[in-house]
Order: sequence, then C-alpha cells, then structure tokens
Amino acid sequence: MVVRIKAMEIQENVELKPHTVFKIGGQARYFCEARTLEDLREAVHFARDKSAPFFLLGAGSNVLISDRGFGGVAIKMMLQNLSISGMHVGADAGVSMARATAETIKAGLAGFEWAIGIPGTIGGSVRGNAGCYGKEMKDVLHSVRVFDAMTDELRVLSRRECHFGYRDSIFKKNPSWIVVSMNMYLESGVAQDSQKLVGKYSLRRRATQDIGAQCAGCMFKNVLWGAVDKSSLTKKFPDLREFSASPVIPAAFLIDRLDLKGIKIRGATVSTRHANYFVNVDNSTAEDVMALVSLVKDRVHRTYGILLEEEVQFIS
Ligand SMILES: Cc1cc2nc3c(=O)[nH]c(=O)nc-3n(C[C@H](O)[C@H](O)[C@H](O)COP(=O)(O)OP(=O)(O)OC[C@H]3O[C@@H](n4cnc5c(N)ncnc54)[C@H](O)[C@@H]3O)c2cc1C
Repeated sequence: MVVRIKAMEIQENVELKPHTVFKIGGQARYFCEARTLEDLREAVHFARDKSAPFFLLGAGSNVLISDRGFGGVAIKMMLQNLSISGMHVGADAGVSMARATAETIKAGLAGFEWAIGIPGTIGGSVRGNAGCYGKEMKDVLHSVRVFDAMTDELRVLSRRECHFGYRDSIFKKNPSWIVVSMNMYLESGVAQDSQKLVGKYSLRRRATQDIGAQCAGCMFKNVLWGAVDKSSLTKKFPDLREFSASPVIPAAFLIDRLDLKGIKIRGATVSTRHANYFVNVDNSTAEDVMALVSLVKDRVHRTYGILLEEEVQFIS
C-alpha cells in the first residue's frame, strides 16, 4: 500500500537491502524518500502518528540492517541542494560526498579532496565524523542545520556544539536530531592540483581496499591509545610500537595479526585485502555478519584484552 502525504509517498513493506552497500537486511514497515525539509517533517509526523520509531538512511554505506528488517519508518534522506559562494559551501544531507568533492574542485576550492572515496552522504558523514587520510568532517565543517524530531524545531549548531570526536558526534547521542545540511569553508585552490590529490587518494584506496564490494567500510573503530594501558600492551606485543606516534592502533592490524583475513561464516567473510572490512560474498545475512563480528571480537579480546567497538550502525 502507498500513502501519499502532500508530495511524498510512504510505501509499506519495502525491501531495505537495495538501499544498503552491504545488500543485507529485511523490509521496512514503512519507507519514504525525503526530498525537502517539508517531506522530512511529514515523515517524522507520520511516524509519530503511528507511534512508530524512525531511522534515517543516507547512502546506506555504514549500516547493517537486521534480517527481520525495521518495524518503523525508514526515511531516506534525498535533500540534494549544494551551493557554493566564494569559499563557502552549503550542502544538504542527501548530497553524496563524491559529488560535494567534485563540485568544490570544479569551483576552484581545495581541502575536501580526501572525501572522494567515502561512499556516503553528507548527513551520514557529519553524524559519524567520517574521515580518512588524516582528515575528518570536523576539520572543514563550520556549522550544521538540524531538525529536532522531538520538538519540531530547526536549529543551527556550531562545530564546537557538535562535540565531534573520533567517529563520534553529538548526533549519535541524540537520535532525534536529524542533520538537514551543513556549511563548510574551504580554501582557494587549483583544480588540477586537487585532481591530482583525488587520483592519489583513489589509487591508495584501490591498493588496499575492496572497491565495489558489498560491505560497510570498517566494521570496527580503531583503538584509541587513551583507552588502553599503552606501556603494558607494547611490552607484551612489541609490534604495536609501530603505532606509538599515532593516536590509534588500527583494528585491521589486530585482526590481521590473528590471521583472521579470509575467515568465513556462511556468506560473510573478513576481507583478504583489508582485515577490518567484512564482506557479503554469497547472499550473506545480517546473522552471518553478526556471528563473524562476535568471533573476531572474542579473538581480539582474548589475545589483546581489547574490546573492539563497532563503527557500523546496526539497525533493527
Ligand atoms: C567501501 C567503503 C569505504 C568506506 N570508507 C570510509 C572512510 O574512509 N572513512 C569513513 O569515515 N567511512 C568510510 N566508510 C563508511 C561510510 O561510507 C561512512 O560512514 C559514511 O559517512 C556513511 O554515510 P551514509 O550516508 O552511507 O550513512 P548511512 O550508512 O546511510 O547511515 C549511517 C548512520 O547515520 C545515520 N544518518 C544518516 N543520515 C543522517 C542524517 N541526515 N542525520 C542524522 N543521522 C543520519 C543513519 O541513521 C545511521 O545510523 C566506507 C564505507 C564503504 C562501504
């Protein structure tokens, strides 16, 4: 059944699998695509009227959806405005990171090239403070426009008010705060130089990651040195000293050292190229991935005493 609310359709029992990069997950009880702020407001009101939970879907590149699906309203963020004026860039939540990178380079701006290979949207990337190659969203972002689904209010948060941390932000603690758009200021650049940087980053990705694989990027967050006993850990495992100058121990390193690359549970496997990528190779279910997650967490914990924390968001 399809319910039409103003310009937006709300569909029932929609497969979520195709809306994720993992290609895993059951159906959403309700599904809609929010193309405007008004659509978003209507979708949230619809959920409220049904006393149903909602969740936001960007490009689905950092989620693992339960095989049983989601019993509420899945709202796909499709707000797509992107404006550039001088050094200022305004981008809606549904704009892809790749498009934002390409358009800023075209406009002669530099400083967002690193984002080219992140296959998500601005909204998902602000929430998770996405980053790579030493840069994160917080390094470029100036402010975020937020719709509060509890109070129906729109407000603007400064970068400081977003409480960004490593793959963390205030939005993770406040699931009713929806990222509607963000503002960033970049530097004046030369398009050719930026293109060269993009080429360099793309090559690095191709050399180390499974491009085009059905996965969700890094399954686990890297381990902050501040969260472990550095001196006893490096004494026991001297090879960890190579990361002494870095703020984190890469989760991929720990998994790789335990020889878990290529380990498989039914349709899900730990990538042979990047040990922190879990890949759906053969019609994997969420249950298969979860079993693999448990196995890897257990092995890392038993060996290193470190409890890995999932970066991927589990939706059920
Ligand atoms: C091959 C591959 C490579 C990757 N490389 C990187 C990398 O280098 N660095 C990195 O940081 N990540 C990487 N990722 C992970 C992922 O692309 C990022 O986390 C991305 O920012 C997620 O954006 P998304 O739109 O896909 O979010 P989704 O996966 O759709 O959603 C992620 C979470 O954000 C929430 N959300 C989505 N939109 C909004 C919104 N508008 N407001 C509030 N909450 C919202 C969702 O409810 C969910 O909880 C990679 C993933 C893949 C598959």
